[in-house]
Amino acid sequence: MKLDLKTDGHVHTSLCGHASGQMEDYVKVAVRLGLKRLFFLEHLEVGINYFERTWLSHEDFDLYFEEGMRLREKYGEKLFVGLGVETGYNPECSGEILEKLAERNWDRIAVSYHFMKVGSRHYNLVSRKKRNLEILGRVGVAKVVSAYFDTVLEAVETVPAEVVCHLDAVLRYHPQIRFERSHYRQIEMILDAMAARDMALEINASGCRMRDEPFPALEIVEEAARRNVPLAAGSDAHRPEDVGRFGKLAEALEKTSVELDG
Ligand SMILES: [Zn+2]
Ligand SMILES: [Zn+2]
Repeated sequence: MKLDLKTDGHVHTSLCGHASGQMEDYVKVAVRLGLKRLFFLEHLEVGINYFERTWLSHEDFDLYFEEGMRLREKYGEKLFVGLGVETGYNPECSGEILEKLAERNWDRIAVSYHFMKVGSRHYNLVSRKKRNLEILGRVGVAKVVSAYFDTVLEAVETVPAEVVCHLDAVLRYHPQIRFERSHYRQIEMILDAMAARDMALEINASGCRMRDEPFPALEIVEEAARRNVPLAAGSDAHRPEDVGRFGKLAEALEKTSVELDG
């Protein structure tokens, strides 16, 4: 399987409230690095009861498209500027999610699963904040991981996405995170469902910044490659200086069967 490192398929901006920098700052870094394509993948969430908003409102998405189209005109000869969305799945609101996706002309629809409901509130599965880790830990790490993969499978079967983001990032900051054999079976089912839809697996370089391995881990990347699941590189940059930071990723992938492009 090939991985194109001239495309950064996943960056955020200050529009989501937890990233820094304007869209143009990200574009400038991509141009400086000589990337060919940059996809903004802003957070969409529906029906989430969380203590702060870490995703874009309808109005934010209006601004996003307006500015994105301006940048596409301005930089179009040097770089393809893609306006995409990281769709956070919510099993209780799948209909509304599909409606929101149908409202706009996305260049890339990606899917991930960030928020799990415990009681009446949602908790962030990929956060390092104690308020999330404590409650999810109380539910039980193995149980949360199983529920996470079940829901990702449902998301793959429901959302018309081209990419699945940071597949194994669940509870990445929990000290007891560990996958069991049953979890790997769930991962294989997800990869089978993706292969059937020609849905790509994101190779998320932010993992290399925290654990010397991308999200997902290399053995999962190999499982995907065996199934001919396409691969898509993403920095998951939440600040401009992380755009296209694929050095450590390229190094890590040298040990795998993945062929690097660019
Ligand atoms: Zn984010
Ligand atoms: Zn994400």
